[in-house]
Amino acid sequence: MSQALSKDMQIKTSVDLKPYNSLAISAVAEYFCSVNDIDQLRNALIFAHNNNLQITPIGGGSNIIIASDLAGLVLHINLLGVEVISSDADAIKIRFAAGENWHSMVTYCLDNGWYGLENLALIPGDIGAAPIQNIGAYGVELCDFVYSVEVIERATGNLKKLSVADCEFGYRTSVFKQAAKDCYIITAVTLTLSKHPKTNTDYPSLRASIDSDHPSPQDIFQAVCHIRRNKLPDPKDIPNVGSFFKNPIVTKEVADRLAQDYPELPIYAYSQSQCKLAAAWLIEHCGFKGCRKGDVGVHSKQALVLVNYQGDGAAVLALAEEIQSKVLQIFAIELHVEPRIYGNLI
Ligand SMILES: Cc1cc2nc3c(=O)[nH]c(=O)nc-3n(C[C@H](O)[C@H](O)[C@H](O)COP(=O)(O)OP(=O)(O)OC[C@H]3O[C@@H](n4cnc5c(N)ncnc54)[C@H](O)[C@@H]3O)c2cc1C
Repeated sequence: MSQALSKDMQIKTSVDLKPYNSLAISAVAEYFCSVNDIDQLRNALIFAHNNNLQITPIGGGSNIIIASDLAGLVLHINLLGVEVISSDADAIKIRFAAGENWHSMVTYCLDNGWYGLENLALIPGDIGAAPIQNIGAYGVELCDFVYSVEVIERATGNLKKLSVADCEFGYRTSVFKQAAKDCYIITAVTLTLSKHPKTNTDYPSLRASIDSDHPSPQDIFQAVCHIRRNKLPDPKDIPNVGSFFKNPIVTKEVADRLAQDYPELPIYAYSQSQCKLAAAWLIEHCGFKGCRKGDVGVHSKQALVLVNYQGDGAAVLALAEEIQSKVLQIFAIELHVEPRIYGNLI
């Protein structure tokens, strides 16, 4: 790419990242820029390219851990806008710019009678980050609704539209975390939503919290918000990134062995030959639930959530390592970290 930096670019140096990051308290970005349109985004990429800077794109900052001050350019993706692409009696295709807030969009769709996203209510962050780990909750995943994901290629500045197949979605993963890691900035996501109420109450704790045999999408939305508010700490009050570890996927043989030794361990079918284990149970069984180690700890209501009272990214990562090694020692199961870690550990 070669193009002069336009005058409207606001590239700042040495910016405190606190408002954008839930686990670091005093990280500083070498360069910082919030982009509001595609031209600004292209210009920021050119600035980084010309100055040989690494790029860290961020949305709401709810799923990143910053282990140290960040070298290079932190790019806040603030592209806004909602557009109906097509609509008929049954369904709507709706395009959200990457900087729109996820929960606001879930609420907006429900209010308009466009259904499907209710189980994903109250997940923090922005639309643009949602495909990165294929956000999911209460038996539903983003990939169930994705029609296309628009991106800008970091190396060339070219715009591309990826189909749902191109995105290679899986459990808390996608092409953006695998083969195309750090290749693209997501600029917009188009979803297909139903105009007919469809509800999914397969998830046990959701089903248990709903009285009606025929819940409406609004009932699901309310129940999900209620469960989440009761169980998960709000990152604005206690910094956290939600689930710190993915639920481990293991072979049926491993799951059968664990079921014999630990009949209480929740085990879910994942594929024909694989099962998913409840990581929270493994962590709780190792005695970490509710523990506090200095300025960091494990939440008292949800063992998958590590919390940062007043520590820093490095302290959280040290606790995470302790949990991983204990779970490995007791169950011979590896826990994988879900959020993205940026910065260097000393
Ligand atoms: C209390 C709490 C509960 C949570 N519950 C859930 C849950 O139920 N299910 C779930 O799946 N997740 C959950 N999360 C995790 C988080 O909400 C999601 O991962 C969300 O999509 C992150 O959005 P964000 O905008 O904050 O992303 P950020 O934290 O800003 O970024 C996350 C990653 O995406 C990259 N990124 C961000 N925007 C872009 C873009 N436009 N283009 C390219 N890369 C980008 C970043 O570089 C980073 O690697 C929870 C987090 C918290 C704090």
